[in-house]
Parts: sequence; structure tokens; C-alpha cells
Amino acid sequence: MVLKKLTLKNYRNLLSAQIEPCGNVNIIYGDNAQGKTNLIEAIWLFTGNNSFRAGKTSELIHFEQQAAELSILFEDSEREQQAKIKLGTKKEYFLNQVPLKKASEMTGNFYAVIFSPVDLSLADGSPKNRRKFLDAAISQLTPQYSGYLEQYERVLEQRNALLKDLYRFPALRDTIDIWDLQLAKLGTILSIYRNDYVKKLSKLSEKIYFGLSSESEKFSMCYRSSVFDQIETVDHYEDCHIQAYFELLQKNLEQDTKYGFTSVGIHRDDLELMIDHLPVRSYGSRGQIRSSVLALKLGEAELLKRVTGENPIMLLDDVMSELDNKRQDYILNHVKDKQVFITCCDMFNTISLQEGKVFHVENGSIL
Ligand code: ATP
Repeated sequence: MVLKKLTLKNYRNLLSAQIEPCGNVNIIYGDNAQGKTNLIEAIWLFTGNNSFRAGKTSELIHFEQQAAELSILFEDSEREQQAKIKLGTKKEYFLNQVPLKKASEMTGNFYAVIFSPVDLSLADGSPKNRRKFLDAAISQLTPQYSGYLEQYERVLEQRNALLKDLYRFPALRDTIDIWDLQLAKLGTILSIYRNDYVKKLSKLSEKIYFGLSSESEKFSMCYRSSVFDQIETVDHYEDCHIQAYFELLQKNLEQDTKYGFTSVGIHRDDLELMIDHLPVRSYGSRGQIRSSVLALKLGEAELLKRVTGENPIMLLDDVMSELDNKRQDYILNHVKDKQVFITCCDMFNTISLQEGKVFHVENGSIL
């Protein structure tokens, strides 16, 4: 997959910008706070995911403007396509001039993998970050996953609302079974997708970590389900899994009613990252944390390529800082068959660029 042209209007501090990147390494360099990450973030939005740092759409529009527009021309292995995002009171997506009902319809059309400094919290932050990573990564591979997830979140919200009422109106007890059955079914399907994804990703990321790290450390990961000890691959879930999930929800009902929320389920699961069998979140050094997250992200890109046949676009925001030359070379070598965007403050010190294009960002302008 190759991004051939990007045009931005009123996007954050990039009031009017256009780039025509090359098909391999694109360096975006400039001083701090000039708009480099804004550029990467704009490309990322075309995956159909939310921004990796903004909470609200309004934050993406230039302070003094009411609306913004982002357009891309991109090419996959079959054809050239156009996409557009209009940001105003809402976010609207268009693919080849056809309006999409929701952002997730873009998923599966435009593939990218992002590494940004906020991703470091994947290794040492809360499980919520790791669940978010898994959900975004699996949705890119399997667009129906995000549909199941949306349904699960809706049902969970209904159940939690009912739990609060149940405390005051115990007669509502029977209605909870309806929600529990739905949660059990959706939760089982989602657990299986996640577990299967982690198994595949693990093999790739372990190898990448080994290449990145100069030590003989063993990186590994596993999916920690709050419901299942082990579960089979996507093709093999059975009624007994749904039943087990349902029974656990029922077992915890009394406690859940007391606290007003659902204490078990995929919204409580975690992705455990380990080095030499010790959790990275508790024992990892800064270098190990950075290498773990890089291994995760480069592994994600590799898996996307294997499953979809398309090379995702790599968006590497400030990836080279704190890495020695050996690790920087390993990364550049690893992504050389893909289109990659790398932001940095001083390209001449950090990256030995043999081929590619360089964009200088200064105060919201791309030179
Ligand atoms: P660093 O190297 O420090 O990471 P950067 O070049 O990646 O810097 P960005 O995060 O891309 O920096 O840009 C930050 C700049 O964009 C800041 O000056 C910020 O004030 C500005 N900015 C952010 N959102 C908006 C917005 N909605 N409207 C106008 N300017 C904005």
C-alpha cells in the first residue's frame, strides 16, 4: 500500500499542506512543536481509527477554523483510490467520493501501523491501552471484529445500567439473563479473536525483539483472559465456552450488583508482555520498554502483510530517539519493503538515508 498524495486544509496547525511522498522512506523533520506529528496523525485517521492522542474531533481542527478537510490518493495492489475526511461538528468519511456510514468502513481499505511515544504506555501502562491496541490491530485484519466489539460495548453498557437499578428494584433480576447471554456469546467470539491474534503476533514479535536487542533476552507475550484459561483458535469455539462465560457472569452477579459494574469479561482482559518470563510493565527498563513496543508494532505490520497481502504504511513518530545506531539500522532494514514515514528533529544525526524523500516542517508549513 502506498500513499501517493496527502492534502490537508485547516488540520491542527497545518492550515494548507500537500505532500507527494515516495514509495519507501519519507523523513519528516523539523524542530519541536512544528507539526510533524500532526502530519502523521492525519495519515493515521484514514485507517478509520480515532487519533492516537486527540479525544475530540474539534481538537483536530485549526483553533481559528470551524472545519477541516483531509484527502489522500493511495494505491493498493489492485488499484488507485481516493479518500476524504471532513471534520466539523462530526467526522465524515468518503471513499472514492462515496460517503461511508461510519469510520470503521474505512478499516480494511487503508492499512497503516503507527508507533508514537504515547504507545510506550502499551508496555508499562494500564491494560486498557493494550486492549485498545489489540482491538485496533484485529479490526484492521478482520473488519467484522469491530462490529462485534461495538455490539459488546452496547450490551455491557445496558447491563451496567441494569445492575445499578437492580440494587433498588430486585424484581428486575430475571432480565439480566438476557444481557448475560448476549455478553457471553459476543465476549466468547471476541476472546477467541484476540487469543488467536496474540498467538500469531507473538511468534513474529519474538523474532523481531531478538533482532532488535543486543542481549540474549527472550521476549514473549500471552493473552490473559478474565474468563478462560486457554481457548482454541477462531474456527473452534463451542457452546461450552459461551456457557462457561455465562456462568461466570452469573456467579459474579451479587458482587457486580453491589459495585454497579460488570467485573469479568473481555473488557477486563490483558495482553501480558514479558522479557525472560518477567512482566515488562513491572520490571522493564526504558530501553526494554521501547524495544518491546517496537517489536509489537513491527510484528503487527508483518502479520497484516501476511494476512491481507498488503504492506501497511509505517508511521514512526520519534522512533529513533533513545535508540543506538544498531537498533536504528535494524528498524530501517526491517521496514525497507514498505512505505514509511519517520519524524525526527535532526535527520542528519539520526538517520543515514540512502534513498527516499525529506520533508521539512516549520511552523505548520511543509517545505
Ligand atoms: P515534537 O518534535 O515536539 O513532537 P511536532 O513537530 O511533532 O513536535 P506536533 O505535535 O505535530 O509537533 O505539533 C504541535 C503544534 O501544533 C503545537 O504548536 C500545537 O500548538 C499545534 N496545534 C495542535 N493542535 C492544534 C490546533 N487544533 N490548531 C492549531 N494548532 C494546533
